[in-house]
Amino acid sequence: MAHLVKDVQLPSVIPKLLLEKHTNYLVSYGTNKDDYMYCMTEYLRMSGMYWGLTALDLMGQLDHTSKDEILEFIKKCQSDCGGISASLNHDPHLLYTLSAVQILCMYDALEVIDTDKVVKYVKDRQLPDGSFTGDIWGEVDTRFSFCAVATLSLLGRLDAIDVDKAVEFVKSCMNFDGGFGSKPGSESHAGLIYCCLGLLSITGHLHLVDADRLGWWLCERQLPSGGLNGRPEKLPDVCYSWWVLSSLTILGRLHWIDKDRLLEFVLSCQDTETGGFSDRPGDMVDPFHTLFGLTAISLLDTDHGLKPINPTFCMPEYVIRKIGLKPSRLER
Ligand SMILES: [Zn+2]
Repeated sequence: MAHLVKDVQLPSVIPKLLLEKHTNYLVSYGTNKDDYMYCMTEYLRMSGMYWGLTALDLMGQLDHTSKDEILEFIKKCQSDCGGISASLNHDPHLLYTLSAVQILCMYDALEVIDTDKVVKYVKDRQLPDGSFTGDIWGEVDTRFSFCAVATLSLLGRLDAIDVDKAVEFVKSCMNFDGGFGSKPGSESHAGLIYCCLGLLSITGHLHLVDADRLGWWLCERQLPSGGLNGRPEKLPDVCYSWWVLSSLTILGRLHWIDKDRLLEFVLSCQDTETGGFSDRPGDMVDPFHTLFGLTAISLLDTDHGLKPINPTFCMPEYVIRKIGLKPSRLER
């Protein structure tokens, strides 16, 4: 029997990019604080804010947000140990610490938090093998390695950790297919590949990667619909458009995929009534997939009225330049 590819069908008419609707969707998201979805997502509020604000900044609409309120919220989410939590009275975690620092960089307002304490919190997460735990509870994952290195890089404090050990750990997570998993021996996954390449890009160690082999694995994520999945045998999903495209951009191999077909897939995931993007055509939209739909389009095409996105930090390129960072990329 023929091998069946898991995939989706695109609508017969592909909508154009609906920037105004996406702005309205993001600005009104969370304005009703009794909203069921708003309450359900409290455990990731800080990241949710980062997704929405980054998307708005890419569309040139950051001034639609209440900056003072946001800065006040972030200040209150920093705990005594220096880490930042998703929401008030939650435990701090590296994921939310990075999101908060990214937001503050966009607003040019790092002085709102105690950055020395953030540096100490991140430093305290590194284990003797170079890996990082996400919080005090000790789970290790290459995602947290990326969060640690990206946070410190944005603060100009990479010297606070053992960078060589951090790189060594990521290298130990490299698989025979050229990809990376969450820890040594774990299966390759596009999201974790992005994290590991991001870390190597920030620390200047991309030469450790087999760029052709990995580039090939990433291109194989493209399905007949044009969409990308995160690993073999999975359905395409807009967020993987970002993890795969940013990785290919860092590797200098973005031209290896079919950009036109991917663009059609991403555009098909817009809700043409409410605005916002979903994971696949016809599903419910959310701020997470809205950001990654827009960042993917920003990488694919300069002609859509979006600001350029930095593939390593997933932040507007102008913010990264203003800070003076230049994460490395391989030549095509
Ligand atoms: Zn997704």
